[in-house]
Amino acid sequence: MTSLEIREYLEKLELCSICILRYQNESIENIIILYTAQNNKNETMDTSVGTDTIAIKRSKKSICIACLGIFQSMETVSKNVIEDSNLRNYECNSLYTSVQIPIELLVRELSIWIALIQTFPGKVNEDTHPGIPIKDVFKTLFNRKLCLATNRQMEYNQNGIMINLFYEFMDCDNIDNLLAVKPLSFGNENHKKSKNVSVITRNLFEKHFYPKNLKIDEYKKHLAVPPKLPSNGPIKLTRYLISGPTIFIAGRYRKLSRDLSQTPWIIAGKRMKEKSIQELISCEICPYFGIDDKEISFISSGREDTDVRMLGKGRPFVLQIPDAKKSSLPKNIAAEMQSRIDSTKLVSVQHLQLIKREELIHIKLGEENKKKSYRALCILKTNVNAEIMQLLLNKSDGFLVQQKTPLRVLHRRPLLNRPRQIFSLKGYIVKDQPKAIVLDVLTQAGAYIKELIHGDFGRTKPSISSIIGHDIDIITLDVNAIDLEWPPEVSNQLDL
Ligand SMILES: [Zn+2]
Repeated sequence: MTSLEIREYLEKLELCSICILRYQNESIENIIILYTAQNNKNETMDTSVGTDTIAIKRSKKSICIACLGIFQSMETVSKNVIEDSNLRNYECNSLYTSVQIPIELLVRELSIWIALIQTFPGKVNEDTHPGIPIKDVFKTLFNRKLCLATNRQMEYNQNGIMINLFYEFMDCDNIDNLLAVKPLSFGNENHKKSKNVSVITRNLFEKHFYPKNLKIDEYKKHLAVPPKLPSNGPIKLTRYLISGPTIFIAGRYRKLSRDLSQTPWIIAGKRMKEKSIQELISCEICPYFGIDDKEISFISSGREDTDVRMLGKGRPFVLQIPDAKKSSLPKNIAAEMQSRIDSTKLVSVQHLQLIKREELIHIKLGEENKKKSYRALCILKTNVNAEIMQLLLNKSDGFLVQQKTPLRVLHRRPLLNRPRQIFSLKGYIVKDQPKAIVLDVLTQAGAYIKELIHGDFGRTKPSISSIIGHDIDIITLDVNAIDLEWPPEVSNQLDL
């Protein structure tokens, strides 16, 4: 089979110029060149590249029986998307098109394939479809058009704008006829009743319908080979969606307040604290990315209680921002965000930076393994004496505790008995405060520090209280360090 023979045959079938090229084993790059040249000539449909001249003369009004006009209407569709004001809202370097096409197009591709096999016996590949898939050519052409029109890079990039096109075709007869050819293939007895064509997935179709596993005579009884002109007009774009990338902004926060929850704290519809760390941070970051701060997800490496400060280098966190209107974070902008968050005096943020989705693993993996360093100011009913200090010193190299889920969180967490390692313990007396003691404790992540100190009515064993043999209460508690060296330190600086 020569390219010329096939072209003449497909021209007779009134395929559109792109579909003819698809079946001529032209590369996608060549199709783009030919298509662009053709568009430049506008009204005439004659195109030539190098010595290979391709003349395609067809009535512009007839609908292509292969693609149902998806390529013929591409110019209009792309123009609408390019002119969509939403597209201008995105400041991303790249974009990507995804297209949903009805199964009807695959049925038509199959019918053309069978027609070619029968017209050119022994000369057409019966194992794999001879044409470049409609989707591949469409996406490449559409991507290119949009990139050229909007000055964006021509590459697939999740950090870019995503354009989802949804095409539908109203005439479902061919789908129903497929059922007659192979009734069991759909695996859904309700198909006939519901007329729900969506039960035929692309995978199911490709698995069951190809020339070698079909009785061609049976197929031709139910479906036209080659396919007929559609009676219900061309394929229609029913809707399209433009969305931005999901981006991830990481940083480390320090919590300076003893009256602030990490995330919005609402019980039975009632707000328990006016603000949260999440809100104080996200309200300064989200506007830059054009997204409401209620849309984001706040991911952190653990959390501290409302009345606990987070000091030292702070706690790693990530904001997951969907549909971002920008895909980069310049250092001066990051510095401005940090500065505004710092001005709340409640939370301070450093090292704000854009990270890749894959890097989220750092924050998740560290959850169980990392160590946490606490400083607790505690009070005893008795004066701190040498015996107490010696008992603490005996445990300075750490010990293992068994912790039952604390009473205070039992209403929202399952009852478990968990071993947790305490790596080190140090006690300090406090000047002019004979009953006060400062404890520095290094624990495994997930240890309940308050219970470790007071014992939670014997539910944590041993506890500092049981070790020293006295009741002990916590006055204030700070997290001093979380040993997760992530995200990397960056120097965000304001433009002066
Ligand atoms: Zn076509």
